[in-house]
Amino acid sequence: MKVTDHFKNADGKTLFTFEILPPLKGENLHTLYTHIDPLMEFKPPFIDVTYHREEYIYKQRENGLLEKRSTRKRPGTVGICAAIQNHYKVDTVPHLICGGFTKEETENALIDLHFLGIDNVLVLRGDCVKSEQRFIPEPDGHNYASELIEQVVNMNNGCYLDDEQAYNNGTDFCVGVAGYPEKHFEAPNLKSDLRWLKQKIAMGAEYIVTQMFFDNQKYFDFVNLCRQEGITAPIIPGLKPLTTKTQLCLLPSLFHIDVPCELADAVEACADNKAAAQVGVEWAIQQSKELVEFGVPCLHYYSMGKSGSVRKVAEALF
Ligand code: FAD
Repeated sequence: MKVTDHFKNADGKTLFTFEILPPLKGENLHTLYTHIDPLMEFKPPFIDVTYHREEYIYKQRENGLLEKRSTRKRPGTVGICAAIQNHYKVDTVPHLICGGFTKEETENALIDLHFLGIDNVLVLRGDCVKSEQRFIPEPDGHNYASELIEQVVNMNNGCYLDDEQAYNNGTDFCVGVAGYPEKHFEAPNLKSDLRWLKQKIAMGAEYIVTQMFFDNQKYFDFVNLCRQEGITAPIIPGLKPLTTKTQLCLLPSLFHIDVPCELADAVEACADNKAAAQVGVEWAIQQSKELVEFGVPCLHYYSMGKSGSVRKVAEALF
């Protein structure tokens, strides 16, 4: 079922959803299920699965030929989505990125997802790979998420690449996109970022999931600005319970977000990570309660491969 239909069927109740990472190469599905199992009693209508881009390194062999090696650590997004749908009978939302894909490869990936009975995709540009200073698309790939949305929507309408004809049997994906209450780090200002967010909705995206934030006021302001700009799509808050002291600096540097002083001071005062995680859980519970009161359709948690803290937050709310 589509994410937007889950919202419609919720009857005003706030839904609980979460995002998982594919397990590291070499781990198996069982490891992943041990992270998902503890969260299933809170009845997530859908689970997001992130996509981790391939990066290649080239090694010179003794015979002079170049050997191409993938450095990808978390493959398997598509297979995991299909496995979760089979195992838990719950919808999945694979993340689909522009980076590393030609349009044709994207088309083939979407055909696979459609045949596997997956009804949703979260469409993203993806970040640049470590060896590059800025995002560089494949020679025949997409520059921005909005272009990838256009391809998905065309396929929903039965239009495939390099084919004049429109077919009756198109795909039927519900498209979600990313939004940034504290602005995307490359955007010169929030207003310009919102202009492009509005374009993603105009191209056919039906809902927005936000980057994580620790200050609800940032989310409320963002929603207000979006509504002023005429963006009416549901805006799903993305939340991450802070779990270690290191994350105080790591999360802002990775995701270009702020940690409020009150939270930073409380975590810094903790003797160890166990105490820090408790502070993180309590903070996330307060954030979640306030967001439920605000009337968000869904709370979306970044589990980052560990379900313990998300479970504690869910226990207090759902
Ligand atoms: P876009 O919407 O394309 O925007 C990128 C930048 O370009 C922004 O600064 C925007 O303002 C600007 N822009 C947009 N359109 C135009 C235009 N037409 N002309 C000029 N400027 C433009 N990354 C992964 O690799 N895998 C994942 O699974 C993943 N999941 C994510 C889930 C969520 C909820 C979020 C918030 C992010 C996720 N990311 C993921 C990270 C994401 O790929 C990066 O933040 C990336 O840098 C931007 O992606 P986007 O889709 O927001 O890009």
